Amino acid sequence: MVWIGGAPGAGKSTIARGLARRGDLPLHPIDLWTYAHLDRMPPLRPLAEDLAEGPEYAADAFVRIARLRLELVAADVQERSLGDVPALVEGPQLFPSMADGVAAAVWLLPDAEQTRRVREERLARANDPAGRARLEGLLARDAVLADRVRREAAERGRAVIEVPAEPDWAAITQAVEDALGPLPGLQPGEELSRQRRYENLAACVQGRLWQADAGLAELPPYPFACECGSSGCTATWSATPDEYDARRDQGWLMTHSAC
Ligand SMILES: [Zn+2]
Repeated sequence: MVWIGGAPGAGKSTIARGLARRGDLPLHPIDLWTYAHLDRMPPLRPLAEDLAEGPEYAADAFVRIARLRLELVAADVQERSLGDVPALVEGPQLFPSMADGVAAAVWLLPDAEQTRRVREERLARANDPAGRARLEGLLARDAVLADRVRREAAERGRAVIEVPAEPDWAAITQAVEDALGPLPGLQPGEELSRQRRYENLAACVQGRLWQADAGLAELPPYPFACECGSSGCTATWSATPDEYDARRDQGWLMTHSAC
């Protein structure tokens, strides 16, 4: 595994997606396995109860859960049978103190206002009064977690990238790429197609579980990856899981005229 870690709002997902597609890397955003992991973990205390104990306590609770999830992530990546090709894993669960076995990793830490903006945007998408009530507590916890990443990274000589309120995304993407170094990609053709399909199917499963759990009338479109198998293809197709399934029945998903 190689990792992009750090707090919400730092652009991890977008950057990881771009890097993975340009470099033919398997993409593994932990978000896509949230519900699958819930089924494989001991019952968790409600987040609101952790937050009620204060930001330090909530941060400790987050780290405890993150450790459990890291084991599951390692098993999930193993299951993808990637050989020597590292999966590009993206999520806030890895901390520098847990990353001794991870060859390449970088942490993106957003400006606090940026984290607030992203959390507000996510809340605006769903009718979630409980989420609204947790917002301030979550932001205080995020700040504690970001400080831990900074401290642990400094102690261990790991790379941290601070993301300002108005980021230069091209420069940040380049900095991430430099921090991770050169990485071997998937074999173009069948293998690259197969891994992109695996990622697309994971997005369908997660999307449907999220829809059921949050009681959403419909899902926002997800950017499914082109499954053409051409090296460096970054084309995506924004669609719902049902639309994706209908296209999938016709073979690999080809999403642009160049395919
Ligand atoms: Zn393509």
